[in-house]
Amino acid sequence: MADPFTLGVASGEPLPDGVILWTRLAVNPLSPDPARPGGMAPRAVTVTWQLAEDERFATVVRQGTAQALPEWAHSVHVRVDGLRPGADYFYRFRSGADQSPVGRTRTADDPAATRPVRFAVASCQRYEHGFYTALRHLAGERPDVVFHVGDYIYESRQAAQFVRRIEQPDAATTLHAYRNRYARYKTDPDLRAAHAAAPWVSTWDDHEVLDNYAGRGDGSAAFLRRRAAAYQAYYEHQPLRVRPRDGELRMYRRRSYGTVADFMVLDARQYRGATTMLGAAQEAWLLARLRDSPVRWKVLVQPLFFARRFVPGPPPNLRADSWDGQPAERSRILAAGASGLVVLSGDVHNAWAGDLKADFLDPGSATVGAEFVASGITSRPPVTDSAAVLGANPHLRFFDGRRGYLSGVAGPEEFRIAFRAVDFVDRKGAPVGTAAEFVMDGNGLTFGNASSK
Ligand code: FE
Ligand code: CA
Repeated sequence: MADPFTLGVASGEPLPDGVILWTRLAVNPLSPDPARPGGMAPRAVTVTWQLAEDERFATVVRQGTAQALPEWAHSVHVRVDGLRPGADYFYRFRSGADQSPVGRTRTADDPAATRPVRFAVASCQRYEHGFYTALRHLAGERPDVVFHVGDYIYESRQAAQFVRRIEQPDAATTLHAYRNRYARYKTDPDLRAAHAAAPWVSTWDDHEVLDNYAGRGDGSAAFLRRRAAAYQAYYEHQPLRVRPRDGELRMYRRRSYGTVADFMVLDARQYRGATTMLGAAQEAWLLARLRDSPVRWKVLVQPLFFARRFVPGPPPNLRADSWDGQPAERSRILAAGASGLVVLSGDVHNAWAGDLKADFLDPGSATVGAEFVASGITSRPPVTDSAAVLGANPHLRFFDGRRGYLSGVAGPEEFRIAFRAVDFVDRKGAPVGTAAEFVMDGNGLTFGNASSK
């Protein structure tokens, strides 16, 4: 039988005592037949899995079987618990005579732990726009955890200018088309390597469904069907703990590492409305944790540029699709009184860093945290007069116009971010470098390195 592990393996959602292991069986990832996604016959397949303390599987600590079901495109989500905190593990799957690649994963730290957590942040990886060299470098760092802040796929029709093509070029609107879009992306060996290197915690932005969509869209049955299909395909291709139900998927959640970091993963799309980015329930959840969290760093993991960003020139000068579209809600988050507030974001395909101000219109107002915006892995940036934007927004402190990712360490004293960048993605083999490094220390309100602008 053909290799069913063409889409690789993944793990995610680390807790101190467990992780989720993922694979999806597909002997023909881009099968055009909607009745046989991944080229798989429409029946259940039994998969066995193993988790070991070592890469050679000499010490297997858990194993079991799981059913890969056709209604979930033969994806497998195995919940493993009872593990040691802050520990590396290795896992693999078997189906018949076929064995998957080996993945490395890691549990979160014990709630009382004080050790630093090493993480990476990726965003915006349009397949046609280039090679995933940055993800290959990210994999080489073997972070404790990888956050993906959205635009994992682009539902859009084939880009007019492409480095590599998608064979099914129409915009995805059906479950089958979304499945095949994820499959096309996961045929990339660098993306598979990044998943196999570390557990991921992902959230989505707009392109997992439709460019710039908000909430229930136009409210039509057609849009809600499309959104439900997109959410299901997202689940089928990510190592998530929860499954979609009735066309909804609970994405906002907290992943904590000891006394050092609370990573608050936000959903800026599903509950969005004319006057809200997060929706009432998610905002209440977030504000309560920001007020009460006993840990050192409160880190918002979410797609959209959070600080005010005034773009000089003809209007619109503020981007309504980002947090500049919901300034009152942003102010409530900044006013929650959290010390050690950090926002990690993506979406704009360039790297930025800046201070979070109590009042962005008053440069003398208190600095209440910092934001680090990951560039895209491949997605092309808009034309940006970065000098003009930096000049018009004194709280913005850094810009880099290359593709890349964030490499960070949250420790008991310091929060460090390195902007990792590659010079090109239109061919393979770009080396990676550090465009700038920032340190937040003391009360967590200032940059240690303010000279990189
Ligand atoms: Fe994007
Ligand atoms: Ca986006």
